[in-house]
Amino acid sequence: MNDFYPHSVPRDTGWIEVIAGCMFSGKTEELIRRLRRAKIARQNVVIFKPKIDVRYSSTEIVSHSEQSLPSVLVESAKEILELSKDAQVVGIDEAQFFSYELVEVCNKLADSGKRVIVAGLDQDYRGIPFEPMPQILAIAEYITKTLAICVVCGNPADKTQRKITSKERVLVGASDSYEARCRKCHYIPENQTEQK
Ligand code: ZN
Repeated sequence: MNDFYPHSVPRDTGWIEVIAGCMFSGKTEELIRRLRRAKIARQNVVIFKPKIDVRYSSTEIVSHSEQSLPSVLVESAKEILELSKDAQVVGIDEAQFFSYELVEVCNKLADSGKRVIVAGLDQDYRGIPFEPMPQILAIAEYITKTLAICVVCGNPADKTQRKITSKERVLVGASDSYEARCRKCHYIPENQTEQK
């Protein structure tokens, strides 16, 4: 069993696990690892991602190291609730692209006895907490923070550095425009301090 559980797997109840970190920190890879193990254990697994994320493949979650699992594209968090009635394990990737509604949806899923595993960016490119991740981190039983390696100095990195000029909070499918940086090497690009 995964080593982040305190003693054993909870019995007769659902729960929420969060995998949070910057880009290139292996969030999706860790999500895929956990979901694969659940499938091997013959559990009914369903995986969701927001329709906004169209990189690589529209019906799979794909990590930067090209691991993949089939997934269902949804436009809103509410759809997750409707589409996971038969699931024992619910995986959600790129959770930062959902609205605050995701918080209530995760609670409802866990309350109904499901294991919910949520992966997402915890900060945007300016280092500002990326809603609804802070709220989901607060209600989760288990939290894993994944760190990348700073491309400048080699320290553990938890910030996403944007290398091009844009005031958009997210640039979908533009992973070439980002790199992982540590606190010391990360900076907010000039004229990009406006809140969305
Ligand atoms: Zn650094």
